[in-house]
Amino acid sequence: MTDSVVTRFAPSPTGFLHIGGARTALFNWLYAKKRGGKMLLRIEDTDRERSTEPAIAAILDGLKWLELDWDGDVIYQFSRAARHREVAEQLLASGRAYRCYATAEELTAMREKARAEGRTRLYDGMWRDRDPSETPAGMKPTIRLKAPQTGETVIEDQVQGRVVWQNENLDDLVLLRGDGNPTYMLAVVVDDHDMGVTHVIRGDDHLINAARQKQIYDALGWDIPNMSHIPLIHGPDGSKLSKRHGALGVDAYRAMGYLPAALRNYLVRLGWSHGDQEIFSTQEMIDAFDLPAIGRSAARFDFAKLENL
Ligand code: GLU
Repeated sequence: MTDSVVTRFAPSPTGFLHIGGARTALFNWLYAKKRGGKMLLRIEDTDRERSTEPAIAAILDGLKWLELDWDGDVIYQFSRAARHREVAEQLLASGRAYRCYATAEELTAMREKARAEGRTRLYDGMWRDRDPSETPAGMKPTIRLKAPQTGETVIEDQVQGRVVWQNENLDDLVLLRGDGNPTYMLAVVVDDHDMGVTHVIRGDDHLINAARQKQIYDALGWDIPNMSHIPLIHGPDGSKLSKRHGALGVDAYRAMGYLPAALRNYLVRLGWSHGDQEIFSTQEMIDAFDLPAIGRSAARFDFAKLENL
């Protein structure tokens, strides 16, 4: 069955629609279209301080202008916080998570010690095996995942191949903060699961998060979606893309008079190629697109080439 593919674009609304984000949305859209599936849109507004209404408007507007339509209603992650808390409670009840009362000073000391010893696992597990009835008065705990201490966590990624982490290097993740709000890591897993997402396609800056999320999926007994981590876009000189390489917001290209089809065509070819073909109609793009064809090295954004379109 090919009609069961569900992808999603899950931007954090902290600024304009970045061309990197637009490319991620485009890849999700193309993959869903090609497989007769759906692309959902989830606004990841859990970070209340950094999420803004103008940023949400810019993302929705930019996607509409690029004609990257999504299926169903926009899902706002923050509105699902009660569900995230429910899943954290479920993990506590099954013994796969625990309450941690470590103070800020204790956590700082742990981190410094781990760094000095060259360990990447920063939390020393001080509350891991404590009796749950030991609750220091007046302190709000965080809830942490009881992550596996030995063995490996493996992600079979459609773009990156098989990626393996040693569990001894991965921390007991915080799932719920002291104020009861979920962390990004928990929220993404619960939402992708509940939304029926089958394919996660996102930037490779999230690859390490995939390992952490896999541990949450495992603790819940849920299947992890199919993963594809696409290389980030770099400047023509190979350095991290920045303003000196040209405008970074989709709105800027719109204001300069580019047509949405031209920008889409440019974005699709950042990191993905199909022989020598340079110009694609939308249908050609959908027909030709595939995930394994995305390279593992960074795509280079060359403003001069865009100007030639
Ligand atoms: N909200 C994250 C971001 O904008 C993406 C999360 C994800 O795709 O899993 O970088």
